[in-house]
Amino acid sequence: MPDYPSPRQEFALFRHEPELVYLDSAASCQVPDEVLSAYLNYYQHGHANAHRGSYPLAQQATAALENARASLATFIGATSSQIAFTPGATYSINLLANGLELDWQAGDEIVVSRAEHHANFLPWQRLAQRYGLRLRWLDLDPRSGVLTENWREVITPSCKLVAITLASNVTGQILPVAEIARHARPFGAVTVVDAAQAVGSVPLDVVALQCDALTFSAHKMYSVTGCGVLYVSDALQARLQPLVVGGGMVTRVEEHSAEWVSGVHALEAGTPNTAAIIAGATAAQWLRAQRERGLTGYLQQLTQQLREQLQQRNWLQLLPYQGDALPLISFYAPNIHAFDLASFLAEHAIAVRAGSHCAQPLLRYWQHEAVVRVSLAAYNTAADCERLCAALDEACQLFA
Ligand code: PLP
Repeated sequence: MPDYPSPRQEFALFRHEPELVYLDSAASCQVPDEVLSAYLNYYQHGHANAHRGSYPLAQQATAALENARASLATFIGATSSQIAFTPGATYSINLLANGLELDWQAGDEIVVSRAEHHANFLPWQRLAQRYGLRLRWLDLDPRSGVLTENWREVITPSCKLVAITLASNVTGQILPVAEIARHARPFGAVTVVDAAQAVGSVPLDVVALQCDALTFSAHKMYSVTGCGVLYVSDALQARLQPLVVGGGMVTRVEEHSAEWVSGVHALEAGTPNTAAIIAGATAAQWLRAQRERGLTGYLQQLTQQLREQLQQRNWLQLLPYQGDALPLISFYAPNIHAFDLASFLAEHAIAVRAGSHCAQPLLRYWQHEAVVRVSLAAYNTAADCERLCAALDEACQLFA
């Protein structure tokens, strides 16, 4: 196992509940002290409505918000003028689906992958219904977990937008997003990347990904809920209308008309969640430091080790992946319902998630109803994996 100093003691949850085995970080990560301190510090010493007042406290809040924007922009290889804050990835994708002015015509195509979380599928499905667009699928092979070989044939000159996840939240499979965007661009298609699941595990670079828009939620990278980051390229900003209108995004309001500010601030009507945004920027710093200490290699190895341990239990079937993947594993037992397994594990203080993981199109396509997902993060250890395996063995005996 690579040498990685465990940050487990930096998490109040594990100091208070040392016995808890938390294997659901793909849903929400736990939050380290440094991030919580930044959040609390804002309310104790720097709270005011950002971008509103001219008194020192308000200016301080504005500066903190804009510093966080600069720092989160750098975190994904973008500039401050390309980053809008939203409540989360789901909101961001709804904003794009409702606000992109791509001159939609009946018969235009939107391409999604079979691995999409409902958050990156339902907004496009609804848009397709509204304009009579055709939804097309990039399928994932049920044996290998990767895109089927013919995926290029699905993206044609009729495609106006590709909405693609950087990684599946069910299998952890990382998808070749840059290659897909490169293929779609000559057709004039826009590529939107859902990086919500990948952000905690994969360093993001919007330039290398060659995408036009990208979003993630900070609660999946060791921060609090309430901070979403939406990257929109300069060119796409010109074709994007706000989803929500109100205070802070207008230059002039008349009785029968109004003018929006230019740029990303037009997407941020209303009071921002400054505390969550500051926490998000602090989490990005914390995560960068963990990566420098060897987090990525550690999690790859821990996941591989767990995968091998699970594979030894021939009553379990693991969902497939190939090549690069996130530190998560989904599995099912043909004779035990996923919810029974998850409930049994919960009784043993092991937190996992069972169900369709907001990815019904993938599960249905692969003919599964529900699977158990275990996801690993910086605070997990080999001992957690052993506890999981021992409890699974007990479950097998009880339910078999
Ligand atoms: N996309 C993916 C791949 C996800 O895994 C999730 C959350 O699980 C989301 C989008 C939605 O994120 P949020 O609920 O923070 O908006």
